[in-house]
Amino acid sequence: MLDADFFRRWMTATAALVDREAERLTALDSPIGDADHGSNLQRGFTAVTAALEKEAPDTPGAVLILAGRQLISTVGGASGPLYGTLLRRTGKALADAAEVSPEQLAEALRTGVDAVRTLGGAAPGDKTMIDALVPAVDALGESFAAARDAADEGARATTPMQARKGRASYLGERSIGHQDPGATSSALVMTALAEAAGE
Ligand code: ADP
Ligand code: MG
Repeated sequence: MLDADFFRRWMTATAALVDREAERLTALDSPIGDADHGSNLQRGFTAVTAALEKEAPDTPGAVLILAGRQLISTVGGASGPLYGTLLRRTGKALADAAEVSPEQLAEALRTGVDAVRTLGGAAPGDKTMIDALVPAVDALGESFAAARDAADEGARATTPMQARKGRASYLGERSIGHQDPGATSSALVMTALAEAAGE
């Protein structure tokens, strides 16, 4: 079973990976965006870790809802409301359970990803974070490691795609040939989840 401490570890591991990879995320956001994805997420997840330390939420759902709220209020770019919605809606789906099973987490994350799709209007193949998140949630029934690998593969698969949502879509065909920054950071979020699970 996964308790609040597990979810805290997931968020702090995400913050650490975002710190480490911030320059790469910003570099990916340079040719097909405005070169701020790494700094956006760094600011957001720094606020997440600070809030988790200060408020010490004691259920999995409360950890994710607090994290999502921080992202929405501190990240200016499109990714803030989108990742904020992902975490908040996943947290809401977990309600006030003290511990949840990996299956319950997989189901809740599916709800969160659906909310991101509704908010952003992106479908698989549009070259967004959805292209990493959907395969990850599909693979989560198998294992955390499988979800991490599926997200990685999903992020790499965005390179030949033409963007149909977000800033990159303004470039039309010129968006082809670059890996999507948001799909890349979603793969980091799933890597952090597998790390928290010890996989
Ligand atoms: P901004 O585009 O406002 O500068 P970021 O650079 O932080 O925001 O994030 C860009 C990433 O957000 C993109 O690489 C893409 O994965 C994701 N994104 C943008 N718009 C959407 C959308 N409508 N639906 C899903 N993801 C999106
Ligand atoms: Mg950007």
